Amino acid sequence: MENYAVLKKHQTELQCTVSNILYFKGIGLHTGKESEIVIKPAKADSGITFVRKDINPKAIIKAKAENVCSTMLRTSIGLKKDDSGKDASTGCISTVEHLMSALWGAGIDNALIEVYGCEIPAMDGSARVFYESFYESGIKQLNAKRKYIEILKPIIIENGSEDKDASIALYPSDDFEISYDMDFNHPLVQSGSFHMKIDGFNFHSEISKARTFGFLKDVEYLKKNGLALGGSLDNALVLDETSVLNKDGLRYEDEFIRHKVLDLIGDLYLSGYRIKGMVRAKKTGHDMNSKIVKKIEEHLNEVSLSVEKKEENSFVSIGKAAATLFA
Ligand code: ZN
Repeated sequence: MENYAVLKKHQTELQCTVSNILYFKGIGLHTGKESEIVIKPAKADSGITFVRKDINPKAIIKAKAENVCSTMLRTSIGLKKDDSGKDASTGCISTVEHLMSALWGAGIDNALIEVYGCEIPAMDGSARVFYESFYESGIKQLNAKRKYIEILKPIIIENGSEDKDASIALYPSDDFEISYDMDFNHPLVQSGSFHMKIDGFNFHSEISKARTFGFLKDVEYLKKNGLALGGSLDNALVLDETSVLNKDGLRYEDEFIRHKVLDLIGDLYLSGYRIKGMVRAKKTGHDMNSKIVKKIEEHLNEVSLSVEKKEENSFVSIGKAAATLFA
């Protein structure tokens, strides 16, 4: 996987899908239930689509922010609202963010993901296993130009519902950049900042391996609330008051903040497109991440409205929108 010449071949302006069918099996981080997923090639402009195949009727769920049904410690998508974390039958799929992040990193625009279970397998708690499997099995270019969301004006969300200091904003930039500020009151996690221009090259080395994390003191409360039921030292970094319990320690010195960036990339990919812009996030979790994607979607709706109006009535300018799509 250190062969960057191979990676470079896939950094393309054309849309991509997987070349072959991929299969993953494992337990879900929050439900603790075993699930299987099958990832299949999909045609250009179809995007990422999840299908719950283990329920009748099956549920077809586009990987879009409008389908986000829960953001409690993970991002779940589904056909119905569900905040219990215990759902097994309404077509809800929990914890899609690490897989979405891996799809973004590998440059996969279109894929059909069949899910047998109510949560994506946790694998090692990062995006690495998915990402490396995509490259090992092959990525196929499609005969259609990739579309991007270009941020034209700042889009800002402040005052998070869980933490009033949390904020997230998107600004114009020629690249995809993330700046993340974290503030935890723990001797190992502490406060810190991370800033990087991220693409498919450095995603693998700098982001993909960062694992999800949790605090031993929270485990009992989370389990009571139907969360972290599958969490273990095999799929998460676990911290007590002063140290990391995982024998092999950290994969990056600042693995915690890098995992927050990994989550953010996966959540932003629920916009349905890659973003050209700078993301500034402070203490955000899945709730704030999902809110800004919904904001982007609102702006994109304005864009299409503007374009339609422009045809009949030339006074509405597309330049007023904060985001636009370009190919
Ligand atoms: Zn995560």
